[in-house]
Order: sequence, then structure tokens, then C-alpha cells
Amino acid sequence: MWQSLSERGQWRGELLDRHRDGRVSPKWMSISVVRDAQGAITHHIAQTMDLSELKAAEQRILHLAHHDHLTGLPNRVLLRGRMEQALADASRSGSELAMLFIDLDRFKDINDSLGHHVGDAMLVEVAQRLQRLVRGSDIVARLGGDEFVLVLTGLGGEGARASAAIAQKVLEALRQPVQVERHALHTSASIGIAIFPSDGVDMDALMKGADAAMYHAKAAGRDGLHFYTDAMNQANQERLALEQGLRVAIDRQELFLQYQPQIEAGGLRTVTVEALLRWRHPSLGLVSPVRFIPIAEDTGLIASIGQWVLHEALRQLADWRHRGLTELRVAVNVSAQQLRDDLFAVAVADALAQHGVPGSALELEVTESTAMRDPRRTVAQLQQLRQLGVGLSIDDFGTGYSSLAYLKQLPLNSLKLDRSFVMDIEHDANDAAICAATITLAHSLGLAVVAEGVETRAQLDYLRGLGCDLVQGYLFARPLDPEACQGYIEAQLAPTP
Ligand code: C2E
Ligand code: MG
Ligand code: MG
Repeated sequence: MWQSLSERGQWRGELLDRHRDGRVSPKWMSISVVRDAQGAITHHIAQTMDLSELKAAEQRILHLAHHDHLTGLPNRVLLRGRMEQALADASRSGSELAMLFIDLDRFKDINDSLGHHVGDAMLVEVAQRLQRLVRGSDIVARLGGDEFVLVLTGLGGEGARASAAIAQKVLEALRQPVQVERHALHTSASIGIAIFPSDGVDMDALMKGADAAMYHAKAAGRDGLHFYTDAMNQANQERLALEQGLRVAIDRQELFLQYQPQIEAGGLRTVTVEALLRWRHPSLGLVSPVRFIPIAEDTGLIASIGQWVLHEALRQLADWRHRGLTELRVAVNVSAQQLRDDLFAVAVADALAQHGVPGSALELEVTESTAMRDPRRTVAQLQQLRQLGVGLSIDDFGTGYSSLAYLKQLPLNSLKLDRSFVMDIEHDANDAAICAATITLAHSLGLAVVAEGVETRAQLDYLRGLGCDLVQGYLFARPLDPEACQGYIEAQLAPTP
């Protein structure tokens, strides 16, 4: 501005004016200089115009151009902009992304029979329900009519599974009647899903795929979801079948526990047994926990299943302790969702009391990724458990990302070195280094180390050399039924002739 004034005698432009009360307003300003006969500047003449209203109007127009006037959701124009950003992020991070095309079933009937104002109120409610179901980084948009789009981001490699889970929640939310004036309106939705990058790499391809899939969902009887890719539909069907089975598995007594000994690396005596959950499905046979635990977590079923595991493990332990295995402890795996429940420590205390087992005889295993997910909260939760005397260990250590600062704060007893490092310990220098470093780290934090998945004598010898405290694996015992496990431990205790 000063340069322009001295060289050309004038300046024009927009600037932000800070008022004495701190308010800032946009102004248009035009300044000219007045010179005396000798050419020296004597005055500046400034003309200003307040642009606040103009700018506000501009903002309103921009908002109108990018949002649906009825629901306030992004419209197709803004969806495209946000989508470009989301797709760029997804391809940079190598993550999948899901586009859900949501169309209300029989919306036209409501509109035609009860009038547009009722239909409009219903769309507003639907928009709110959708927004409540997604995270801030996801996109909810209305394309027009009764068509909505939901874009789910940050799904990693779990695009199909995660989007099916959200789609189920959407279906459930939209099944609840909508109250408009005196009418309790019932609707449902049909959802088509396309996944980036497998079903398309740009917005148009994904929209086309999701739209086509949505028509399949309609054709299949509405109130359902359909993937663009058939393999995903099949996987989803299987998953649904497992989910339905899991809902009744406890009542039908299809769940049971096996126990795998954790043994002193030096003396080879069993100190703790880890309870591992098993599900005998009536038609599929044994289903691995690796398959059904994630489903239990997605559906919230893990709360009741986890509670069942805790009680069953403590009941069994109490039984063993009565039968003379008085020092034995049991380790129970705990999932992230259980830990997120503020009453978890209370539930554990109740279970211990009910089975007459001291807290010190229970160990809870929390995976590394779970422990690090919400560290502050985890610290508080674990401290409560610690006060019960319960032992805590980090499972699958080395597979997640630990913050050492938090690790130090967690009230832990032990780290479980993940099986993947133990597997190649004698042949892979990196794995050997990781095991050695973990053991050193753990010991310096005052923690014991349990090595998982020890299968060979050579692995055992190597781990002993590193000072590993406990070992667990097929070399000693597979996960065993209670009777077999008891027999195994008693045989260790019997005096050798
Ligand atoms: P985890 O807690 O790390 O359990 C160890 C897994 O390694 C078990 O698999 C066990 O059978 C297996 N394993 C033990 N020794 C060896 C060995 O020498 N070689 C090999 N190849 N494998 C060995 P499993 O029983 O299939 O359980 C898998 C995972 O499922 C568990 O990993 C745990 O994260 C989860 N899980 C099992 N039961 C429960 C439960 O009650 N609650 C929760 N939340 N998760 C559970
Ligand atoms: Mg475990
Ligand atoms: Mg493990």
C-alpha cells in the first residue's frame, strides 16, 4: 500500500479493519495523496466502504450452492469436492473407502398420501439419523429426493466388513418410526455399496456401482444392503449367518473354553493358564475366535460373551484351586470394547467375589492396539483393575505401535511377545533383535515377558538365553480341555522318580 501510494499516488483494495472492540470487518478502501506545490505529500484522502454484508451474502450464496436447502447436508456439488479430497487421502494412505447409496423405500407413497410437508419433515429426520451414525471424517450428502450418499473413510483394508456394519446400523436406525405431527411413519431403506479402489477409483464410477447395487437391494425385497461385487455379498452373507448364530451361541451352550499353560522358562512349571474361547457352530463345526471375535466386537455381542468367558474361566479356576492346584492363575483375553465400559472393573470385582477367587489369581490380557487406542482412559481403567490385585499384560506385543511414554504409565505386570517374532527367532536376525530388545525393555520397566507360540526346543533355548520369564506354545501344550489341562499340570507337579 505504501509503495503504491508513493509511486502512483493512490491505492485501492480490500483489507480487514480491526475495530477498537476487537471486531474485524472487511472493508473496501481507496486512498489518494494530496501534494503541495513542491510535490510533498500534505494529505491522504481515504474512502472506505464496509463489505461485511456483502461478504455475508457471498457466504450464504456459497452455502446455498453447496448444501441441500431442506436438510442442510452437502449436495452433489460439495460431495464431489469432498470426495476428491477423500479419494486422494485414501490412495495416499492405501486405505479403502466405501460409498453407500441410500434410497428410502416407498417414500413416494408417504409424499403422495400425506403431502410434501410431511415428506420433508421425514427427510430432515432421516438426515439427522444418518449424521449421528458416522464419524466427523465421513461424508453424508443428499442427492435430491429420497436419495442420500454416505462416504466412509479411514477403513484400512476392512472396507467391506466395516461398511456392512455401518449399513446395518443405518438400516436399523431407519426402521424406527418417524413421528411427524400425528403420524408415526414407518419406512426402511435400500443400500448399495461400492468400495474404493476395487469397484472404482473415482466418484462417478463409485456412484454408478453403488447405485446399481442399490437396485439389487430393492429387487431383493428392500430394507437390505447389497454390494456391487458378488464376492463381497457372499462374504457378507456368511458373516450375517455367523452373527445370527453368535446371538444364540451362549444360550445354546455352543461356547466353551480351552486352556493353554504358560510355563516358567527355567523350571518348566505351569504358573498360569490362558483361557481361549471356542465356538462349536451346529453346522459349520469349530469356528476360530479370529473369525468370530471381530463380529462379536462389531455387533456389541462381545459384552455378553466377554462376561460369559470371565465367569466361566473363574468358575473353572475356583474348581481347580479346590482340587489342590492352589497356586494356579488364569489369564483371560479382554477386547477393546469391554475395556471401554466404565463398569468393567466393577464387573470383574463381582465375578471374583462370586467365585471366591482372589484378584491376584486373575490376569487380563489386552492387545497392544487396544491399550494404546485411548491411552488416558485405559490408564484409569487399568488402575482400577490393579487395585483389585488383578494382573495385567499386553498381548501380541510388537504388532502395534506402543508409545513408550504411555507404556511406562500403564500399571502392567507383563508383556506377551507376539508369536510372529518367536517363530523365526533362530533364523531371522531382526526378529531375534526384537525379542532381545523387548525382553530388555520389559525388564527395565519391571515387567515379566511371556513368549507366545514356542514350538521348538531351539526356540525355547534361545528365549531362555535372553532371560525370557514365561513360555507358552505347542512345544509344551496346545490349548486343552479342562480335564486334559488339569492332568498336564498334575503330571508336572508329581515328583520325578
Ligand atoms: P492370543 O490371545 O494371542 O492367543 C494365542 C493364540 O495362539 C491362540 O489362538 C493359541 O491357540 C495360539 N497358539 C498358542 N501356542 C501356539 C503355537 O505354539 N503355535 C501356533 N501356531 N499357535 C499357537 P486362538 O485360540 O485361535 O486365539 C486367537 C485369538 O483370539 C487370541 O489371540 C485372542 O486375541 C482371541 N481370543 C481368544 N479367546 C478370546 C476371548 O475369550 N476373548 C477375546 N476378547 N479374545 C479372545
Ligand atoms: Mg491372549
Ligand atoms: Mg497373543
